Amino acid sequence: MPGSFYIVSTPIGHLDDMTIRAINTLKSVAFIYAEDTRQTSKLLKHYAIKTPLISLHEHNELARIDEIISKLEEDLSVALVSDAGTPRISDPGDQIVPQLIERGIKIVPIPGPSALLTALVTAPFELREFTFIGFIPHQKKAQKTLFDRIKNYPGVLVFYEAPHRINATLKVMYEHLGSRLVSTARELTKMYETCETFTLSETFEIPSPKGEYVIMVKGFYGTLALPEDYLEHYEILRADGWSEKDAIKEVAHARKIPKNTVYMAVKNAKKESE
Ligand code: SAM
Repeated sequence: MPGSFYIVSTPIGHLDDMTIRAINTLKSVAFIYAEDTRQTSKLLKHYAIKTPLISLHEHNELARIDEIISKLEEDLSVALVSDAGTPRISDPGDQIVPQLIERGIKIVPIPGPSALLTALVTAPFELREFTFIGFIPHQKKAQKTLFDRIKNYPGVLVFYEAPHRINATLKVMYEHLGSRLVSTARELTKMYETCETFTLSETFEIPSPKGEYVIMVKGFYGTLALPEDYLEHYEILRADGWSEKDAIKEVAHARKIPKNTVYMAVKNAKKESE
């Protein structure tokens, strides 16, 4: 019987978020493969875990596969951890795990923190449906391909971003998605944890962004198609909490019609209902 390959989630900030099962697993395996051994050794020290560490990062992941399989065939179990959160979720492990499964290795997940779900539960949106995108590509063409594919998605879109790129990313989102409602979760489980909601616009910026962020974008009005009538579209946005100005701008943007056309229609409708 070959050993098992454990995928162990670790804290995304607060060290107390390590589960008992995660600690026991890391103590019991023969080796721990870690994204950054220096980072993981701090965690191991905190929990008095003495298991030897071996580095496994995105650049050497596939080169490690034969070594891992030979350890497992010697009946040794090994664990995989990343710097924080759940391995494979925008982290190493994603190339190697499908290959291990193909070779009949037993994969054992040890659940725990991930910024994805921790952030989602703070969002002021219904969470019935969501999709995880992670980091957006840097090239304009790849960005367009991505956003063309997801812009009509009705559920919540979840992105990861580094602080030095967040404002550029919010701009790209505005260009492709229009003035959507966005919620950010920053420094989750840490001292400066902050959750904020705002509407994307041409000029919106987070002043001096610092720390780690998850960006959650409200889905496409909760319906797949644009309402036939653009006044109805406007009313849906208003009922969703959009300001009059943002709703007019968004309807015009989404339908590629002049803002003034929507503005006049809204004004006339108001007059008629008086
Ligand atoms: N595998 C990790 C997970 O399960 O969440 C994610 C690793 S990815 C390389 C790092 C990104 O996750 C950061 O850029 C940020 O977007 C998000 N992140 C990680 N920790 C976070 C935290 N404490 N607060 C907010 N976002 C966080």
